[in-house]
Amino acid sequence: MQCPNGCDVSMETVQVERIFYRAGEPVVISGLEMYVCPDCGCEAMPLRSARIVENVLNGRMEPAGQFSAPLFQLVT
Ligand SMILES: [Zn+2]
Repeated sequence: MQCPNGCDVSMETVQVERIFYRAGEPVVISGLEMYVCPDCGCEAMPLRSARIVENVLNGRMEPAGQFSAPLFQLVT
């Protein structure tokens, strides 16, 4: 996949952990594949990952466990 910013290098596939919100409640998806441009850091979500996020947000996928962590909120 080519970077949308027009960088010469092709984007790399990485696995990330991301927080999404389902009905106002945070959910974490771990092992989600994303494309990242090694040059500019631009991210794009593969269609496969978008489908997974959609399934999670629609409640069509069962959670594997609970996740909780300290929250650091930056006040500006
Ligand atoms: Zn780029």
